[in-house]
Amino acid sequence: MRALPMKSTTSSTIPAFLSVDVEPDGFQLDRRDPPGWGGYVAMVDYVTRLREDLAGWTGRTPRFGWYVRTDPQIAEVHGRPDHALVAFPERVDRLRAAGDYFGVHSHLIRWAPERGEWVHEFADDQWQAHATRFALDAFGQWAGAPSRLFRSAVSSLPSAPRASRRSPRKYASNRRRSASSARRWPATRSWP
Ligand SMILES: [Zn+2]
Repeated sequence: MRALPMKSTTSSTIPAFLSVDVEPDGFQLDRRDPPGWGGYVAMVDYVTRLREDLAGWTGRTPRFGWYVRTDPQIAEVHGRPDHALVAFPERVDRLRAAGDYFGVHSHLIRWAPERGEWVHEFADDQWQAHATRFALDAFGQWAGAPSRLFRSAVSSLPSAPRASRRSPRKYASNRRRSASSARRWPATRSWP
């Protein structure tokens, strides 16, 4: 086997992804005073400048991935799971115009009344599957097509990836039930 010259390691193109998780500034979210998404707003501005810099340095304009929280906690706090996608339309438009893509970021968080706080649910497989499917369905309704991109949060447990690998056909068959859930979003304060 012939050794590759050192030059090839420095002149070849190395594929890279920049993936941004879009989520509120914190996890203990107040329903009566929902948080801003200042980190997201600031990140869009930062990435806009970064994109211009990278394009200038490399001659190629990069595209980035934005993975948006659409899980049950976001629905409960903001009244709808796709809040970040509909509350900042100019950001979505700007990113789309630049060629960026969107996917789902999900935390398996639920309200623990006995503790009076939000917790990551690690013990309940059914909840994990439900929350993951919920987030995927919510994004699918916003996008008009099932999400093919998913980034799990701290809870990369077996049941969550299993739910995220549902085929597009299964997503489609599940959308009727999701639509009935959607009608409850504004009024419901607790989730099964
Ligand atoms: Zn996260």
